[in-house]
Amino acid sequence: MAIAYLNGQWMPPSEAKVSVFDRGFMFGDGVYEVMPVYDGRIFTKAQHLVRLARSQAEIGLAPVMSAEAWSTLLDEAVEKSGEAQALIYIQVTRGAATERSHVYPDSPPTVLLTVTAFQPKTVAEIQPLKVETAEDIRWHRADIKVTSLIANGMIKNRALANGYDDAIMIRGDKVTEGTASNVFIVADGEIVTPPKSQWLLHGITRDEMIRVAVEAGLPLREADFGETQLRAASEIWLSSTGLELVPVGQVNDHRIGDGLPGPIWRQVFEGFQARKRLVD
Ligand code: PMP
Repeated sequence: MAIAYLNGQWMPPSEAKVSVFDRGFMFGDGVYEVMPVYDGRIFTKAQHLVRLARSQAEIGLAPVMSAEAWSTLLDEAVEKSGEAQALIYIQVTRGAATERSHVYPDSPPTVLLTVTAFQPKTVAEIQPLKVETAEDIRWHRADIKVTSLIANGMIKNRALANGYDDAIMIRGDKVTEGTASNVFIVADGEIVTPPKSQWLLHGITRDEMIRVAVEAGLPLREADFGETQLRAASEIWLSSTGLELVPVGQVNDHRIGDGLPGPIWRQVFEGFQARKRLVD
């Protein structure tokens, strides 16, 4: 059963309400996290809480509670929901002001948490994605997980309107990431993913996939690449909490490999399936 926690109160998500003057509503002035629950256990909880704390610090929002208090609250939320496979969404905004003003209000932050059922796709259900490339028009701090996702939404929905499933963004001559995912390619047998920087979100799933690949002895490099290398790749994957790891079979009008999920994707995907059941 989906459940929400809003500023200390538990309720069904449909009953959770915030002020129209909430900074999250009016300015997109907030940060968020999405983390997975597998078999009733929160996977990579500590990493998500570290990133949440960093996002808050980067936008100048004081911590709302300690990592220990968050951890306890999250466990309680999962237990109350009764969901074994779920996504936890956390949003912390700068709180509700009394009028619309760019000046930060002197009010407590708004803290929202939801738990909703979620089934990741099985290997049999996964279809390679068709993506287009798009200019990365976002701001210069894509490393902060802010709720203002207008550019990501514009780029994603233009891709859908053009008949694609998603877009891979390119800034200048460098691939940055998907609209809600990180990007990996396989080039000459080597896995390559753009390094962490201000231009992309430091995905927790990205880190997990790197760990799985390295532990399996697969060659991997964190390095920038451009559209030419993207098109020439034998495999392309997108990673995120919700997608886990999904192969891309087409970029613009160009087929990637034979258009089917590649062997290295399969190895890393299966390694991740084993890891997510074992590691907290
Ligand atoms: N990049 C962007 C822009 C995203 O929105 C997301 C998912 N929120 C990711 C990457 C992947 O991050 P994670 O693996 O932590 O879900």
